[in-house]
Amino acid sequence: MVNHKNKRKNIFFGLALAIGVVCFVVGKTTAAETTATKSKVAPLKVLMVTGGSSHDYTNQKGILEKGIAARANIQWTIAHQGGTNRAKMIELFKSPDWAKGYDVVVHNQCFGGVTDVAFTERVAQAHYAGVPAVIIHCTVHSYRHAKTDAWRKVIGVSSFSHEKHRPLAVRNLQAKHPIMQGFPKVWNTPNGELYKIDKMWPNCKALATAFGEDTQKDHTCIWTNTIGKGKVFGTTIGHHNETMSTDVYLDLVTRGMLWACNKLDDSGKPKPGYGPAKVK
Ligand SMILES: [Zn+2]
Repeated sequence: MVNHKNKRKNIFFGLALAIGVVCFVVGKTTAAETTATKSKVAPLKVLMVTGGSSHDYTNQKGILEKGIAARANIQWTIAHQGGTNRAKMIELFKSPDWAKGYDVVVHNQCFGGVTDVAFTERVAQAHYAGVPAVIIHCTVHSYRHAKTDAWRKVIGVSSFSHEKHRPLAVRNLQAKHPIMQGFPKVWNTPNGELYKIDKMWPNCKALATAFGEDTQKDHTCIWTNTIGKGKVFGTTIGHHNETMSTDVYLDLVTRGMLWACNKLDDSGKPKPGYGPAKVK
């Protein structure tokens, strides 16, 4: 009996000690988290819409996801839809509230076969209403044959075709613009597919051009635009993964995204709290 009692005592003591240790650890963690949360700016909620034909969106999705998250305080939601069908009207855009709750949308898609006017105008509407947009490469050619200018006005440029694949010499036209700070005077891309720009819409401002050898003229390839209440950053660069993976490209797109959200300072740096999340 005595032995049994002692055993029980030991078990109780052991349990009490274990609970004490757990409480101490949990208490410490909670305190640490509370401190971190207090000093932390909420990450930007970023929706990436990707998918469609002619490009390696499976890998580009990862390049942009990791590359931008390493440079800015963001939280991704990724909608990869439509497979490789250029004529697919993706599920996401069937709801008028498709962009609700997001601080910015990064479009990297290729749906050049979609011509439905109501669908195209619904994609555009979210940005007219004020959700900032980042427009990458074939997004400019998506919905281009729809008989409405709504999407073209959001993008800021009209383009219907591109030149042959070759590396591009991208000339920085606005070295003092926050988005172009740190961008080379001339950036020679590893590879490229230059879009022919047929029209610049009134609020569109060119930040860089590249010379088209086929057309023998300069084409805007990096720009800003405003539409309704929305701010837009766009670039037609980004066909090849090898170009998209460079620091120059990822730095540029990150600055463009932050600018569209009013989170880029005049020197091209993220505003306080919007730089990369600290690695613990
Ligand atoms: Zn392309």
